[in-house]
Amino acid sequence: KLFNEVQEAKGNIRVFCRCRPLNKVEISAGSSTVVDFDAAKDGCLGILTSGSTKKSFRFDRVYTPKDDQVDVFADASSMAISVLDGYNVCIFAYGQTGTGKTFTMEGTEKNRGVNYRTLELLFKICKERSETFAYDISVSVFEVYNEQIRDLLATGPTSKRLEIKQASEGSHHVPGVVEAKVDNISEVWNVLQAGSNARAVGSNNINEHSSRSHCMLCIMVRAKNLMSGECTKSKLWLVDLAGSERLARTDVQGERLKEAQNINRSLSALGDVISALAAKSSHIPYRNSKLTHLLQDSLGGDSKTLMFVQISPSDQDVSETISSLNFATRVR
Ligand code: ADP
Ligand code: MG
Repeated sequence: KLFNEVQEAKGNIRVFCRCRPLNKVEISAGSSTVVDFDAAKDGCLGILTSGSTKKSFRFDRVYTPKDDQVDVFADASSMAISVLDGYNVCIFAYGQTGTGKTFTMEGTEKNRGVNYRTLELLFKICKERSETFAYDISVSVFEVYNEQIRDLLATGPTSKRLEIKQASEGSHHVPGVVEAKVDNISEVWNVLQAGSNARAVGSNNINEHSSRSHCMLCIMVRAKNLMSGECTKSKLWLVDLAGSERLARTDVQGERLKEAQNINRSLSALGDVISALAAKSSHIPYRNSKLTHLLQDSLGGDSKTLMFVQISPSDQDVSETISSLNFATRVR
């Protein structure tokens, strides 16, 4: 309730910062934590840089390594479920590879993330409202890699080039993409698994590949008000972005250079779109990347946007951490 009131007053863009725990490798290497969580409850975060200098950042929420998937979803859920009320919504995770983007969005079998919890809650609410609304839910799963869109639910040959088209009423869609109708949570789990299995096909290192591509789950909701007969259509995007880290100069050649440029381009396009929206600018540059073009309907207008900025606590990662926090601050 309180969250919704705060939301009304502040526009439609929220930024939540989540810091993962130090991992075993970091602990055994003697890494120290550079993040100060003393004021985390107030949405403040400190980063200890060289010497005793502290840089402070402020977000709508700050999650410490002790906060779990339930804590995170408790705050994210109200935004996610507003798709049932006709809102377009976009929730995405931004950050350096290894900071927990996939953990937050997908989660693990034991520690399910935002994607699964959202669908579970959507089905629950649909059931509760079944006397007044008829809902129809379907999902598509995309991967965007090197500015090319791939349908992760497509079966058979996938040579087809997918493009984004604008319908006459203004909404954007990808003709020919699989929209899997789902009626219950066990079907969803199968669809999500099929999507992540397809992601691995054709790449010799799935972790490396997934850190360089955007994984985008689109949940489409069609609602019919059984009293008035009114129908609405809305979309919820759940996006696990490519890693935001800059590559060491010596690594970057050939295919890797092209990948790095495309990631850079799409992440900066995303930053540009969100900061243009936050500044209420008259031109919003959606067309500068496939990522922002796909998300267009769910960024801006009366849609709701939630960004997780994921960070590492380690002193080894401090410069990437500050760069991610600066990106996130820019969109607020
Ligand atoms: P990314 O997708 O950003 O590259 P991952 O989600 O794969 O990062 O996370 C890297 C590792 O850290 C994984 O083993 C993941 O389970 C673990 N991890 C990330 N965040 C947390 C967290 N908040 N609590 C516990 N483990 C985490
Ligand atoms: Mg990942």
